[in-house]
Amino acid sequence: MGKELLNWEQGRWIGQTLEVPNGVCAVPGNDLDGPPEGLAYTEEVKAATDHLYPLVEDFIPEFEWPAYAPLVHAINVLKTQKNAVVLAHNYMTPDIFNLVGDYKGDSLGLAIEATKTPADIIVQGGVHFMAETSKILSPDKKVLIPSMRAGCSLASSITGADVRLIKQRYPGIPVVTYVNTSADVKAESDICCTSSNAVAIVESICAEWGVSKAIMLPDEFLAKNVARQTDIEIIAWHGRCEVHARFSAQDVRDMRDANPGVVVLAHPECPPEVVAESDFTGSTKAMSDYVGEHSPGKVILLTECSMSDNVAVANPTVDFVRPCNLCPHMKRITLENLYECLRDETNEVLVPEPMRSQAHTAVQKMIDVSFPKEKGYFDPKSPIKDIQVI
Ligand code: SF4
Repeated sequence: MGKELLNWEQGRWIGQTLEVPNGVCAVPGNDLDGPPEGLAYTEEVKAATDHLYPLVEDFIPEFEWPAYAPLVHAINVLKTQKNAVVLAHNYMTPDIFNLVGDYKGDSLGLAIEATKTPADIIVQGGVHFMAETSKILSPDKKVLIPSMRAGCSLASSITGADVRLIKQRYPGIPVVTYVNTSADVKAESDICCTSSNAVAIVESICAEWGVSKAIMLPDEFLAKNVARQTDIEIIAWHGRCEVHARFSAQDVRDMRDANPGVVVLAHPECPPEVVAESDFTGSTKAMSDYVGEHSPGKVILLTECSMSDNVAVANPTVDFVRPCNLCPHMKRITLENLYECLRDETNEVLVPEPMRSQAHTAVQKMIDVSFPKEKGYFDPKSPIKDIQVI
């Protein structure tokens, strides 16, 4: 296709221009100048929140706790009053993740959990495409996002119109779309995938269609890493996660030199050369599970900063080296704007029919594919392939 990446400069993502149906993704800047007025650290707040402080004592100094506790308490009271839940992605800051999150995990896991809750309101502690996925799977619930500007460089790299054009140019080849995309892109796709099931999904849809080639959208690096694990020929789009794309193989070698014996875990949105330098590569959940199951003495997670912070709370004996690549979009979600969003029920995420139901078909088709969890691991030693990128 040869479309230029408008938001990339010298390999770095520098901005966001895509307008989504009811919001604009990711323009740098803060949403609030300070915490909302009217919340105070009273005896009631202290009594209701003291037991939560140990969960964040490594991140919030004790003298700052009185500034956090009133917001935490107010959010938790609102959740009860309004029958609401907060879905907290692993990349949320530790205050949101540990103190107000009801369901915690990766984007699809959260959306699936949301379908099981009797709550009337879902507040998405994550970015816009995640809120859309929640709405796609739970159309009868009110889905709110604390900042409409919480976007994603992957989701903004492609539109539904792009997918329609791809299907015209490559008829007969199934389109497999990563869940990190907007609802209109999912709606145009034959099936969705996550980083944990991408290999299984590609092989499943190709077997169903009786073909040996698949188009994977939109993450170029995930597609390249999948191509290394399967005999299916993969055609990739040129989107990138601005967080994972920043890691280099030299970074990994330097980290190993500085931390002898360290175990390096990578996310498959990292470049294939980075995966080749890792000890283990898998999805956000697979990385978290690896740490829990193996308890490595010292570990590096090549992913978003807050992931290490949040996994560390559950694994206090593991020493985490924390190379820090922040996702600026995830960091648009704060305790303050989460509180205001739930209090005022603002920033509702809507996905119009029939787009929602078409997207639901692609997501559900993926959910219905069963696969052994080892199929979600990426062998660092498998050879890097040169694949077509459109
Ligand atoms: S970490 Fe990457 S994939 Fe996730 S929201 Fe941020 S830019 Fe998108």
